[in-house]
Amino acid sequence: MAKLLGTTSVAVVVCVAFWQAGCAKNQDLMLEMQNRRPVAWVNESARNIPVAFDVDVVVVGGTSGGVAAAVAAAQQGAKVFLAAERPYLGEDLCGTYRLWLEPGEKPASPLAKRLFAEPAAARRLKSASETYRVPPTPMQVKRMLDEAMLQAGVEFLFGCYAADVLYDGQGKLAGIVMANRSGRQAVKAKVIIDATARASVARMAGAAFRPYPRGPQTFRRVVVGGEAVKTEEVSAHKMPTPLLTSQGAGYEAIEYTLKIPMADGSFVSFAEAEQLARNETWHPKQGDDSETLFQVPPDPMRGKESLSGVWPDGEKVSLDVFRPAGVSRLFVLGGCVDLSRDGAEKLLRPLELMKAGSRIGAAAVSEAGSIGKLSDVKLPGNSVRPAVSGQISENLAWTRPAQSELGSVIAEARVVPVVGQYDVVVVGGGTGGAPAGIAAARQGARTLVIEYLHGLGGVGTLGLIGKYYYGYREGFTKEIDQALVELGGSGEGDSGKGEAWNSELKMELYRRALRKAGADIWFGVLGCGALVEDGRVKGVVVAMPDGRGVVLAKVVIDSTGNADIAAAAGADCVYTNGHGLAVQGAGIPPQEIGARYTNTDWTFIDDTDVVDVWHAFVVAKKKYQGAYDLGQLIDTRERRRIVGDFVLSPLDVYLGRTFADTIVLARSNFDTHGFTVHPMFMLRPPDREVITAYVPYRCLLPKGLDGILVTGLGVSADRDVMPVIRMQPDIQNQGYAAGVAAAMAVKSGKRLRDIDINTLQKHLVEKGNLPKEVLDHQDSFPLPKEQVEKAVETVPKNFDGLEVIFAQPERALPLLRKAYQSAENEDAKLIYAHILATFGEAIGADTLLAAVRAKAWDKGWNFTGMGQFGASMSPLDSLIIALGGTGDRRAVDVIVEKVAQLDAKSEFSHFRAVAMALETLAVPVAAKPLAELLKRPGMTGYAFTDIEQAKRGTPDSPADTSTRNCSLRELFLARALYRCGDYEGLGEKILKEYERDLRGHYARHAHAVLGKETPH
Ligand SMILES: Cc1cc2nc3c(=O)[nH]c(=O)nc-3n(C[C@H](O)[C@H](O)[C@H](O)COP(=O)(O)OP(=O)(O)OC[C@H]3O[C@@H](n4cnc5c(N)ncnc54)[C@H](O)[C@@H]3O)c2cc1C
Repeated sequence: MAKLLGTTSVAVVVCVAFWQAGCAKNQDLMLEMQNRRPVAWVNESARNIPVAFDVDVVVVGGTSGGVAAAVAAAQQGAKVFLAAERPYLGEDLCGTYRLWLEPGEKPASPLAKRLFAEPAAARRLKSASETYRVPPTPMQVKRMLDEAMLQAGVEFLFGCYAADVLYDGQGKLAGIVMANRSGRQAVKAKVIIDATARASVARMAGAAFRPYPRGPQTFRRVVVGGEAVKTEEVSAHKMPTPLLTSQGAGYEAIEYTLKIPMADGSFVSFAEAEQLARNETWHPKQGDDSETLFQVPPDPMRGKESLSGVWPDGEKVSLDVFRPAGVSRLFVLGGCVDLSRDGAEKLLRPLELMKAGSRIGAAAVSEAGSIGKLSDVKLPGNSVRPAVSGQISENLAWTRPAQSELGSVIAEARVVPVVGQYDVVVVGGGTGGAPAGIAAARQGARTLVIEYLHGLGGVGTLGLIGKYYYGYREGFTKEIDQALVELGGSGEGDSGKGEAWNSELKMELYRRALRKAGADIWFGVLGCGALVEDGRVKGVVVAMPDGRGVVLAKVVIDSTGNADIAAAAGADCVYTNGHGLAVQGAGIPPQEIGARYTNTDWTFIDDTDVVDVWHAFVVAKKKYQGAYDLGQLIDTRERRRIVGDFVLSPLDVYLGRTFADTIVLARSNFDTHGFTVHPMFMLRPPDREVITAYVPYRCLLPKGLDGILVTGLGVSADRDVMPVIRMQPDIQNQGYAAGVAAAMAVKSGKRLRDIDINTLQKHLVEKGNLPKEVLDHQDSFPLPKEQVEKAVETVPKNFDGLEVIFAQPERALPLLRKAYQSAENEDAKLIYAHILATFGEAIGADTLLAAVRAKAWDKGWNFTGMGQFGASMSPLDSLIIALGGTGDRRAVDVIVEKVAQLDAKSEFSHFRAVAMALETLAVPVAAKPLAELLKRPGMTGYAFTDIEQAKRGTPDSPADTSTRNCSLRELFLARALYRCGDYEGLGEKILKEYERDLRGHYARHAHAVLGKETPH
């Protein structure tokens, strides 16, 4: 105990929890009651929040009880939405690892029976322990809960925290505002069921609670695999039966009971308790563990009725103990209910929680029935106080157009509490973020790392990609690899030889390194906005299990891999739009205990789109239903990127461009996982050759914004160059460099753009991240004129020197025109015409017309994803696209002739080529042939506008990408048809369907095309 007490200090200066009430008087009252008054506030101007759902009942929290309540309410005919905090349902079972039933607990309801059905492999173990059931796998729990919701017709989303409560015109509760990676949305609801672990919504609504006692508190935590850690601080208890993997391997689990000193009941105190518990219970051979601590809350609410005696059973307990005193339209369904603490412990057993949940669901419907249509729903303002200057900037756009029919609610001007204050705040503790935090803290900056999941390392650990692919494995990356060996991962870290590292070890390694350097870590927190003043980012808006607040920062490092914070702050970003629909394949891995490496590529997922993310997790559970569990990190290879002070291009890499501000040396090949779009690659595709790339500091600086650096997959670079700079060894080194840069800015008080780059580079050279010669580098562009002249001469030979021409087109084009006119060799003439047309020059149209006319369809390219390198189109495809680029109307007949020869069996690249060429020409005469092509058998009907369709349409085989590709083909053709003026409305009809597609990239692309964006 002494050790735990001694080490505990909630290190945040402004460490205050907060409860946001819907109106000023409530807020004052609540903060008084909790005796925690934020020392600072931040202004949030009035704004409209889009309404995502308008329902009878909203359930907040995805526990087994919350699901039972939602299902029961839906079965009574109510419209129900459930906002799940985690990326799955069943956090009370899976998040705390409380999967075991106790002797005498017998599942009775159909849902309980399905949840706790013993895995088939359990029969072999029966003789070992007759009295206990073998617990279900997390996959079983999560999938069964999904299925129950889908069958009952309950809508739900993952990764959503309640941020505020809404009120109607009479001042009564009328729903919630939720925060997630799509931004913030309102859910109008007549009744709220608060199924969160700490009754967060009830606190926001002004319910009264007993104070959280200061001092040691009892928590439980489960570790799977390894041996019991024996210390004076904790008591260990072996669980009665092992957990079984999908292969039937048994893993023993240990439940630890710990007493952890708590300063108060704020999230920040819980975040620190989580770290202390990990310090005490981690074992080098563990294969999995609880995400969050389990506790029977010592601070129950004051209910309409209080029950001090024994638990009477979920079927009998008075529902008034679930209703907060003085707050109508709200039920609490969790450990904060007004029961004796023994009673609460019994309620938290899953079978009881579900029983009570079902009754509460029905009661909520009956209460909703007595409430008329909600009117004048809003998020009321709160009292204006002296606040930190700046404004909260965030995404308030909904991701599906149909949603706009629900309108928006007004959020009046208000203040948001400050919940922390640091020098450097890193958002996302993944491949780039964990190293960034370590580096910043080591340089003496007070650092906080915020991570939504409950572990560090991102794709390389929770994403189950435990191997490096190329990369410059020096410097910080080398340090990490060696430290991994020292932590017990013998031989691991050097996985170039094919061995994957142990994810559990790597996560712990990062955690220890951060703690040792003095950084704080908050798990389970989403960065979902920014505090901005005059183009300077001054803080991060966070969504936490107990609400929304702001963490002030001198520098923010956006390591979400997706530029979430930069985008929210207003940075220009690139992603799928009306011009492009090229995305690298993504996946979600199935997961076994102790899993290390499972590389998947079967879909496209937009991480920032909550609908898409929900769809992908639901579909993946069907796909991998036999697995022990499902990964929680979506493995997207391509994400939203900033437009930075510099945009790295494939040309820079091909030409070995050096920079005066290089901070990373990256090394890989063009591992495209799809098709390329850079015009140079349409003429001469990338090959498998390993190539090095210098990455300048400016790629991390969002144009026009200060106070923020972006790392990882979110940096400023052409999508086609990302494969060369996105490998883990290089992102780790990049994160490290960002952390040092941030600390330098803090120390010097300079803007990030003004730090002394040479000092940073010298540090990186000393560390080994960069070779010494980088210190002498200057920008090697523009290229000398002689190099351009030579390239124009050599280019007819296998496109030799093409990158030079693309790098310097203004100098090359006049030379190319001359070369075309004077070329005597037909092949050379065609190559000159081909290049010129790619730049939109019509001079070689005759040559291209003749070439396309003369060639029959050649072998095209199909999108398979994994392991695809090189050309993503045939030579004829490339010529057709170039011909379209000439704008010469004679091209239409020639291309239409080719269109007539295609059918559903043809390769994808042919469709892409004709579609691109015809949409560039944009002539009505091409519409009919395109429509006829789309009407051929097997060409249409691949949009996933509902989840059952998506489940049916996504093949079970991990490698099967067929439906993803059919959708791509359909969309490319529909887009071209629409842009050619459409035929019988077919193009528009298809695009409108895809606008409603559950897959975010398709939906956004279709929407943008219908918005009549022009093609590139
Ligand atoms: C399927 C796949 C296979 C790959 N194979 C290899 C390989 O074999 N070898 C190799 O070297 N590289 C491989 N890569 C590439 C490499 O792993 C990635 O490019 C790299 O890990 C990305 O790092 P990152 O820091 O940008 O993102 P991540 O590692 O994903 O880190 C981002 C972190 O931020 C968190 N986060 C996101 N948004 C928020 C938010 N708003 N608030 C709070 N937290 C947030 C996430 O939970 C995550 O932990 C692969 C990538 C994928 C997807």
